[in-house]
Amino acid sequence: MAHFSPGPNDSPVTFDAIIVGAGFAGLYMLHRLRGLGLSARVIEAGDGVGGTWYWNRYPGARCDIESLEYQYGFDDDLAREWDWTERYATQPEILRYANHVADRFNLRPDIQFETRVIGAAFDEQAHRWVVETDRGDRFVARFCIMATGCLSVSRVPGYAGLESFEGDRYHTGAWPHEGVDFSGKRVAVIGTGSSAIQSIPIIAAQAKQLVVFQRTPNFSIPAMNGPIDPELAARLKENYTEHRRVARTTAGGVAGQAPDKSALEVSDEERRRRYEERWQRGGLTIGGTFTDIAINPAANETAAEFVRSKIREIVKNPETAELLCPKGYPFATKRLCVDTNYFETFNRDNVQLVDIRDAPIEEITPTGLRTAKAAYEFDVIVFATGFDAMTGALLKMDIRGRNGLSLRSKWEHGPRTYLGLQVAGFPNLFTITGPGSPSVLSNMIVSIEQHVDWIAGCLEFMQQRQMETIEATTDAEDAWVEHVNAVAEHTLYPLANSWYIGANIPGKPRVFMPYVGGVGVYGRKCEEVAANGYEGFRLEARVLA
Ligand code: FAD
Ligand code: NAP
Repeated sequence: MAHFSPGPNDSPVTFDAIIVGAGFAGLYMLHRLRGLGLSARVIEAGDGVGGTWYWNRYPGARCDIESLEYQYGFDDDLAREWDWTERYATQPEILRYANHVADRFNLRPDIQFETRVIGAAFDEQAHRWVVETDRGDRFVARFCIMATGCLSVSRVPGYAGLESFEGDRYHTGAWPHEGVDFSGKRVAVIGTGSSAIQSIPIIAAQAKQLVVFQRTPNFSIPAMNGPIDPELAARLKENYTEHRRVARTTAGGVAGQAPDKSALEVSDEERRRRYEERWQRGGLTIGGTFTDIAINPAANETAAEFVRSKIREIVKNPETAELLCPKGYPFATKRLCVDTNYFETFNRDNVQLVDIRDAPIEEITPTGLRTAKAAYEFDVIVFATGFDAMTGALLKMDIRGRNGLSLRSKWEHGPRTYLGLQVAGFPNLFTITGPGSPSVLSNMIVSIEQHVDWIAGCLEFMQQRQMETIEATTDAEDAWVEHVNAVAEHTLYPLANSWYIGANIPGKPRVFMPYVGGVGVYGRKCEEVAANGYEGFRLEARVLA
């Protein structure tokens, strides 16, 4: 194994691979590379492992995929020895799990924390990546693997006067480790996405007054959270890897029954009964009640109207209820939210909902904020305003491939990848859950494992055949981008102004980024590509001196 010395270096340190990011993707990638006997160094900006679960410490943060599914599946012993306490684990519990994995597989010695990668350039002569950090390190590696996360660059809108605010301000995705006490405070939450929807009920219970600023109402389904079912947990632990194998064949990466009927071929009573059953079960599965919710506007509207009817039942003030009812975009085309007492929170006397669709926030003031209609005073502002998703972390770095081509210019009009795994012109650079792969439309740990396994298999193949470089061809990339777009166009997804399509960032190209084809279909395609000698990639042999 190569030796490294942290801190500013004059001479570069060499590894087989540099992995950027120590979330679930980076941790598992490191484990697999070690298994191949490759030397690898993980570079992580935070001072601990866990990625998403390290940064997002806001009150109420939990997974929205059930914990028994949202865990690694690569090791039966790991699955057997870890016990989740709730159906949807809290952020601290998931972070403990990430730390447990790091310790159990002794991963920490190969992770450099509190270091941000600022650039990576491919040296065409040496066939090596030169990776630079904000601490002055220079690493040289054959492979560079971006495990930088799809939702790791938090974003505060560029409001005028932001810096003038004299109270405390926080973003959900960069929450202080010591927590925030809202007792007796006048609090604003800006945004009503998943992060807001999870945190609002808890902040409301603490704060003196809470004002929620909503631009777009979201569809949210109750989690119906509770303790883990011990019998189910025991059954899955008997053979978790088999459970995961099945999950990998499904559309969303969670094993379960696929729908068999159109929403339009059943009676009104039957349709309502089926939605009600999923609502009572809780969580995201309501999106899979019928076969055509994602593709047929009329079918979709039945699901949308069902959720609206629930909101009207829960929220006592009819005007507030109407404001909270999502309209103008199809159900589940923005990420569905999963909540505990979200809509109920608007029945509290200390909570107010402000619609900012037609009267946007115009500026942050020293004492609060001002919309086009009114001024408000606050002690704390919580920005639950989301992320520069999918491409943000990659484009924050200066990544340069052949001929000095920068990823930023290559992706000027939107991301282009082959399988979300590689970019033509950037040999030996891999992205884990990159744009063009199912990633955020799936149980992410399943997609992460599938990508890591594929990359590990590819590097093993290259090792065995003395291959020096692998690079997606432009033809394969073009065909894949076309396919990803065609599949998305077949669905209702592009109709929503979602972060999937970059709509949350002014000026970001409007391109539907994740692959809608499903985890199972996508996985089979990746397997075929590998079985056909890495079809669509150009492999070059090592030149022996
Ligand atoms: P991340 O966990 O984002 O880790 C990436 C790491 O890379 C970060 O630690 C970051 O600091 C580091 N990094 C980035 N750029 C650099 C750089 N230049 N230099 C050094 N380090 C860098 N998915 C689900 O499937 N189910 C869920 O229930 C779920 N809940 C979520 C809840 C929240 C609040 C959020 C924000 C996302 C959630 N997701 C969920 C998506 C979640 O991001 C993934 O499930 C998963 O955790 C991603 O792991 P990752 O390792 O790919 O990326
Ligand atoms: P998000 O879904 O992008 O929500 C951001 C919110 O801020 C939206 O309501 C958005 O309104 C609003 N907003 C953004 N810019 C604004 C502006 N300039 N003015 C007014 N409002 C603005 O972000 P998120 O809630 O952090 O969630 C991101 C993703 O992370 C989720 O979709 C999910 O995949 C994951 N996540 C999961 C969980 C979970 O339950 N496990 C929890 C949190 C996050 P518009 O809709 O109008 O843009």
